[in-house]
Amino acid sequence: MKFELSEQQKLLKRNAREFMEKEIIPLADEYDKKCNPFSKEQLTELYLKLIPLGYATGLIPQEYGGGGLDYPSFGIIVEELARASGSLGICEMGTQIMGPLTLYTEGTEELKAKYLKPTIAGEKVAIGCLGVTEPDVGTAARDIKTVATFSGKDYIINGTKTWISNGGYCDVAVVLAVADDGKGHRGIARFLVEKERSGFEIRELHKLGFRSSSTAELIFQDCRVPKENLAGEIGQGYGGAVASLFPLLRATLATIGVGLAQAAIDTSVRYARERKQFGRPIGKFQLVQEMIADMVIETEAARLLVLDAFDSIQKDQQRIKRCSIAKAFAPEVAVRATSKAIEIHGAYGVSEEYALERYFRDARTLVIPDGTTEIQKLIVSREVLGMAAFV
Ligand SMILES: Cc1cc2nc3c(=O)[nH]c(=O)nc-3n(C[C@H](O)[C@H](O)[C@H](O)COP(=O)(O)OP(=O)(O)OC[C@H]3O[C@@H](n4cnc5c(N)ncnc54)[C@H](O)[C@@H]3O)c2cc1C
Repeated sequence: MKFELSEQQKLLKRNAREFMEKEIIPLADEYDKKCNPFSKEQLTELYLKLIPLGYATGLIPQEYGGGGLDYPSFGIIVEELARASGSLGICEMGTQIMGPLTLYTEGTEELKAKYLKPTIAGEKVAIGCLGVTEPDVGTAARDIKTVATFSGKDYIINGTKTWISNGGYCDVAVVLAVADDGKGHRGIARFLVEKERSGFEIRELHKLGFRSSSTAELIFQDCRVPKENLAGEIGQGYGGAVASLFPLLRATLATIGVGLAQAAIDTSVRYARERKQFGRPIGKFQLVQEMIADMVIETEAARLLVLDAFDSIQKDQQRIKRCSIAKAFAPEVAVRATSKAIEIHGAYGVSEEYALERYFRDARTLVIPDGTTEIQKLIVSREVLGMAAFV
C-alpha cells in the first residue's frame, strides 16, 4: 500500500498550484463578489488556459487527444482548483465530467464533432450539466416526473429541472426523464439535450455559496430531442447514473471540500503567525493551536478518503460505498475547517474584505448537492448492512 503521490502526480499538483496562485486566487474574490455566474465567454477564456494543466479534457484518453489522467490525478488537480475558487471546482463538473467526458463516452458522432473535438483542439470548451432534481423531487430522485414521449422520430421532453449546476451556460444537458411511463423508475432514461438545437428555457438561481458558478432551473416545454441522443437504453437512466455518474460526482464534490479546507488552513496559518495579541503571535496560544491541529487532522483524513474514492472509481471496486464515505465526510470537514478559520481571524473572519466568508459559504453549500450528508450515510449503511432505509 502506497500513500505517496507519484512523481507525475506531484508535478501535476505543483503546476496547478503555481497557476492558481498567479492567475486565479488574485481574482477569485472579485468573481465571487459580483454574485453573478461567469459568462460563457469568461469561462471559455479561463479554460483555454486551464486545459493544458489537465482540466476539462484530462480524463479523455490520450489516443483521443485528451490528457489520459487517471481518476486520482483528476481528484488532485480539482482540489487545487477548489483551493483557489470553489466556484471553479463546481464548473469543472460541467466542463469535464458532464461535458467532454460524457460526450466522449455517450455522445453521438455529431455532438462529438460539434463540441468535443473543438474542445480537445483548444478552440472552445464544451460545457455539460446533469438534470435530475425537480421542484418536487430531490433526494427521492427515482420519483422524477419529467417525461420523454417518443414521436416516432424524436423524443419530446416536458418537465422542469432545478438546482442544476452549470445549467446557465451549458451546451448539452444530460436530462433524466421517464420515457416509459407505467414502469416507474425502470422507465427512466438519460437524454443528451443540446441547448442550441433543442432549446429550453433557463432561469438562474441565486445561492449562498459558489456564486460565480451557475445554478439554474431548466424548463423543457415540448423540447424535441433526436432519438440518437438517448444515452444507453430506456430503463438504464436511473441505474446508470447511480452506478457511474453519482460516485464520480460525489468524489469530485468531496475533493472540492478538501480544497476549501486546505485554503482555510493556509490562510489561518499565515494569519496566526502574523496577528499579535498580548504581545505575541496568536499562533502561540494553545487554543488557537488546537483549532489548527483539528483542521489539519480532519483535512488530511478527508484527503485520504477522497483519494480512496477516486481509486475505487479507477479500479471499479465498491465505488458507491467509497464515494459516499468521502462525500459524507469531506464537505462536513470543510464546514468545520472554514468555520474555525473564521474564528482564528476574529472579526476579520466575517469581513467581506477577506476570503474566509467565501470559503465558509462555499463549504456549507457543498453539503447539499448529489445527496446530503444524511443520504450519504444511509447509502454507506445500506452497502454495509444490506438493508435500505429508503427504497
Ligand atoms: C449548489 C447545488 C448544486 C446542485 N447541483 C445539481 C445538479 O447539477 N443537478 C441536479 O440534478 N441537482 C443538483 N442539486 C440538487 C441536489 O442534488 C438536491 O438539492 C439534493 O439531492 C437534496 O434534495 P432537496 O434539496 O430536494 O432536499 P430534500 O430531498 O427535500 O431533503 C430535505 C431534507 O430531508 C432529508 N431527507 C430526505 N430524505 C431523507 C431520508 N430518506 N432519510 C433521512 N433524511 C432525508 C435531507 O437529507 C434534507 O436534509 C444541487 C443543489 C445545490 C444546493
